[in-house]
Amino acid sequence: MSADTPLSKERPNPAVDGSELIRFDRVVKRFGANTVLDELDFSVASGKHVTLIGPSGSGKTTILRLLMTLIKPDEGTIKVGGAYLTHEEKNGRLVPAGEKHVREVRKNIGMVFQQFNLFPNMKVLRNITEAPVTVLGLPKDEAEQRARDLLDLVGLGDKCDAYPTQLSGGQQQRVAIARALAMRPQVLLLDEVTSALDPELVAGVLDVLRDIAHTTDITMLCVTHEMNFARDISDQVLMFDAGRVIESGPPEKIFSDPEHERTREFLSAVL
Ligand code: ADP
Repeated sequence: MSADTPLSKERPNPAVDGSELIRFDRVVKRFGANTVLDELDFSVASGKHVTLIGPSGSGKTTILRLLMTLIKPDEGTIKVGGAYLTHEEKNGRLVPAGEKHVREVRKNIGMVFQQFNLFPNMKVLRNITEAPVTVLGLPKDEAEQRARDLLDLVGLGDKCDAYPTQLSGGQQQRVAIARALAMRPQVLLLDEVTSALDPELVAGVLDVLRDIAHTTDITMLCVTHEMNFARDISDQVLMFDAGRVIESGPPEKIFSDPEHERTREFLSAVL
């Protein structure tokens, strides 16, 4: 992607040097008696596209929700871009992160949800400019220019003045992608972004994401049931079962020659 495109970086992005952007260290997450993540260790290198696959209930969405700080781990640490998301360092000691610290680290993370979650009372353009203006302090005209460029990128340059309800589900999801990108996050989290869409609208959304994956250096962490999409965009696929990564590797290996019996069973059920 050239320097003047919507995703060009205004601030230096450590993303593309192959260093670790996300790190989970012995993360435990329980809901009551249910241990959903069981001393989970994993990392995502910057600039890479990583897809989480595995049976329903294996903990994939929980990982994204932890990264968005919608929930907290019971044990372990999570780092994003070299800073702890779960903790902060005070007088040389690690203490649970305060709200201000969490807000700062979370600025590096964008997420697209299954259900779009657009603001229904705001026009499309304002949906995209709201957070850059209020959270990043971007001047309104700059935020609007950024939003227009991103709407062009997702093929909706003519929908600035529409309200979300006037758009199809696929179009709403493309606006949600533009909205996440408007914050210039280092990492984009994608949580089954096509599962709420009518089948004929899925391809348009996946094409936009493929384009972003192939033409930008943004790090992506996806949960998806779209195995062809996972195969196309992933540098690495992680197979989850019962809150642990049981197998990982490049998509050509995982999809064609998996090592683990559970991976074979899962893929034969979904492919
Ligand atoms: P996946 O994304 O792999 O389908 P999830 O991460 O959504 O799995 O869920 C993992 C497990 O955690 C499931 O057993 C689910 O029921 C449980 N779970 C997730 N969120 C909550 C919650 N807020 N309260 C109680 N249980 C939850």
